[in-house]
Amino acid sequence: MTVQSGYHRYHIETRFTPDLIPPPPRFRVRVRKLRLIGLVLKELIEFRGHVRVALSRPCVYGVFSRPVGGLAPKEELCVGCLRCTVQYPEVVQICPNPERLRLGDSYLKPEYVDTILYEARTGRVPVRGAGYRGPFGGDGWDGMWTDMSEIVRPTRDGIHGREFISTAVDIGEKPSFLTFDAAGHPIGPTPRVLSIQVPFVLDVPPPGRRLRVLAEIFAEAARQLETLAILPVEVVVRFSLGGPHVMPLVRAETWPLLEKLPESPRIVALAGWDPDRYRALRARFPESLVAVRVPMDADLEPMVRTGVRVFHLTADYHGYAGRRFAIELIQQAHRQLVDMGLREEVTLIGSGGIVMAEHVPKAIICGLDAVALDTALWVALQARFDGECVEPAPAAVTFPRLKTAWGVQRLKNLVNAWRDQLLEVLGAMGLREVRRLRGEVGRCMFQRDLEREAFAGIEGFGE
Ligand code: SF4
Repeated sequence: MTVQSGYHRYHIETRFTPDLIPPPPRFRVRVRKLRLIGLVLKELIEFRGHVRVALSRPCVYGVFSRPVGGLAPKEELCVGCLRCTVQYPEVVQICPNPERLRLGDSYLKPEYVDTILYEARTGRVPVRGAGYRGPFGGDGWDGMWTDMSEIVRPTRDGIHGREFISTAVDIGEKPSFLTFDAAGHPIGPTPRVLSIQVPFVLDVPPPGRRLRVLAEIFAEAARQLETLAILPVEVVVRFSLGGPHVMPLVRAETWPLLEKLPESPRIVALAGWDPDRYRALRARFPESLVAVRVPMDADLEPMVRTGVRVFHLTADYHGYAGRRFAIELIQQAHRQLVDMGLREEVTLIGSGGIVMAEHVPKAIICGLDAVALDTALWVALQARFDGECVEPAPAAVTFPRLKTAWGVQRLKNLVNAWRDQLLEVLGAMGLREVRRLRGEVGRCMFQRDLEREAFAGIEGFGE
C-alpha cells in the first residue's frame, strides 16, 4: 500500500517568457557609414577576403554582425564597453539612449526596470560577474546594508536545493498564550493564521482599461504561488474572482458590495481605520481574518487595543508616508508593538517603494512579516509610467495588450528570482527560515549610524 504524504516541497515553475515589447537599448551606436565602408574594405584586404570577419568588426559582441555589418547595428547587443569607439573614434560613437529615460520614474530607475524585466523574463537571479560598480550608499533602501559576512562560507545552502530554507510566513492572529477551562477546553482567543509560501503578497493593480486582465493575472498568479492577491471588492464582484487566494479590499463606498461576494474570503482587508466597520466586518465574516490597511505612519495602538491583529501599512510608491521613508516608519511600527508586548501576536504587511529583490529582506529586517508588491509587478508586465508614479490615484500607467497565461508566468518568474535572492541572504546569515529575519536589526547596518560613528566630531560633518 502506498502511503501518501501531504507534504510537498515548495517550488516555483519558471519558464523563459520573452518581453512583449523590446525595451529600448541602453546605447545608441552612431556609425559614420562612409568611413565604416572604408574601414571594412581595408580590413577585407587585411583579412584576405574573409567577409564575415570584416563585416563583424570592430565589435566582439555582435553589434555589427548583420549581413550589412555596421550599416544597421544591432544596438540591443551593445554593452557599452567602448572598445569600438576607442579603436575607431572617427567611425563609431556610443551614446546613452535618451529613450531609456522614459522607463520607470525618478524612484524606479531605468536600471531597476532592466533588472525587473530580466527577472520576469528568465526567473533567474541577475549575475553581473564584473563586480558591483555603483555607489555603496545613498537614499532610501541604499542607506541600509545587510550583514552578509558569512557569504564566503555560507552555513546554509537553500538556493541550490541542498538544504531547505523556509520562506513561508504566517498571517493572522497569534495569541501569546492559551487559556483552558476546568475541562481542558480552550477558552479565550486561539490562533487563527493562514500561511503563505513566500513573504510577498500581490497588491492592488492600477485602475485603467486593462484592469480585468490584470486582476485575473494577479489572482491566478497568487493561486499558483500559494500567496494572496489584494483586489478591491468591486473588482472581485465584477469579474467573479473569488477563491482562497483573493483578499478583497473594502472601502466605505464599496461596503454594500460585501453582500455580493461569491463566498466568505479567508482574509478581507478594510481600507482606513473605522472601529465600527472593523467590528461589522468581523461579525459579517466570523471565520475570516480581517486586516486593516492604514498609512505607514499611523498610530497602531488604538487599533491594536480594539483587537486588530493584521495590518497592511502603506507608503506611497516611492516609499514615503508624509516626509519619512519606510525604513524609519516600519521600525517605528515594529518597536511600538514590541513596547506593548504584542509583537508576536500581530502580523505586519507593508508596501510602497519595494521595487528590488534586496528591498524585501531589508523591509523584513526593519520589522515587517511580509511585503505587498506593487509597481515592480507592473513593470514585470511591461507597464510604462507617464511621469512620476507616486500615488495610486493619479498614477498614469499603461500596459501593452496582455494575455493571462503570459502575465501569470512573468509574475511567477519575478517572484522566483526574488525568492532566490532572499534565500541567498538567509543562507549567508545562517538562517533557516524567513520568520527569524523579522526585526533582526543586528543583521544590518545603517549608513547614517556608521557615518555618525566614524565622522562625529570632525569639523564639517553633518552640516
Ligand atoms: S561599445 Fe562595445 S559592445 Fe557596443 S558596439 Fe562598441 S564594441 Fe560593441
